[in-house]
Amino acid sequence: MFHTNRITCGITDVCYLFTGRRLVCLLMLAMAVTVEAGDPLRYRAGLRLSPDKNKLSEKERKAILESLREKTGLLELGFDEDGFLSLGEVENHRGGSKTARALLTETAGLSYAIDLESHNNSKDIAFGRLDKPVNFTNFSSGEQIEVYPIQLDFADFKKLRGDSRVIAAFDIGFVILHELGHAVLGLHDRVENELETGECEDYINRIRRELGHPVRESYYARIYRRSIMASLQTVPIAELEFSLDKGSGKSRYRLNWPAADVGPIVPAGVRRGSMAASFN
Ligand SMILES: [Zn+2]
Repeated sequence: MFHTNRITCGITDVCYLFTGRRLVCLLMLAMAVTVEAGDPLRYRAGLRLSPDKNKLSEKERKAILESLREKTGLLELGFDEDGFLSLGEVENHRGGSKTARALLTETAGLSYAIDLESHNNSKDIAFGRLDKPVNFTNFSSGEQIEVYPIQLDFADFKKLRGDSRVIAAFDIGFVILHELGHAVLGLHDRVENELETGECEDYINRIRRELGHPVRESYYARIYRRSIMASLQTVPIAELEFSLDKGSGKSRYRLNWPAADVGPIVPAGVRRGSMAASFN
């Protein structure tokens, strides 16, 4: 049951909208591949920097650490010499979100592996996505492990426009935590209308509230067209709304980006004719 949840969460919204979740789940199962690997570290569970394909740069590794330390308050959080996430002393935190600490504590105790991969300037990946798992097998020792890739497009974050508070509420750390919500907790993005956030993003909004960041108001990013200066041409812009409850009222923030430069644009599926930026 839980296993199935983890696999279905690797789908794209396009598949989800047009084929239905159950069918996609079967498709994903069929697509999972088995690969032989002799490296003993390949069979160690946990969250890991990809050791071979799509390796992160040192700058990207530092950006993740800085963001996850801020989210969790875990100052000792790091990647060990083999590239696996280590939390350090969890009780020794300074500020941070207890929900984020709980999610990373769960991640550190996994029986399977999650690899962080760099996929910059990918037109298929908007910020990040959980891809289908790969089953690794050592035919000599009989060891096996499932590895779930989280594919990150760091270049997309440079295209975000908006108030600094809303850009901080949608950074690389939040995107990784969202994908861990799928991979570790089996949470879904399913929404019934364009005003909903879905259970996975609800969980991430809890972390945002605990940190005092604006919260995301919907799962879908609406698409509108903006004219290009001194031209009759228009380009699609994706926009997400965020809000921050200050007690005396809500402050609203808009986060936008050039939709076609970041990821696929799909029918929103919740309002006839409406389009949305595709997330995972
Ligand atoms: Zn998602």
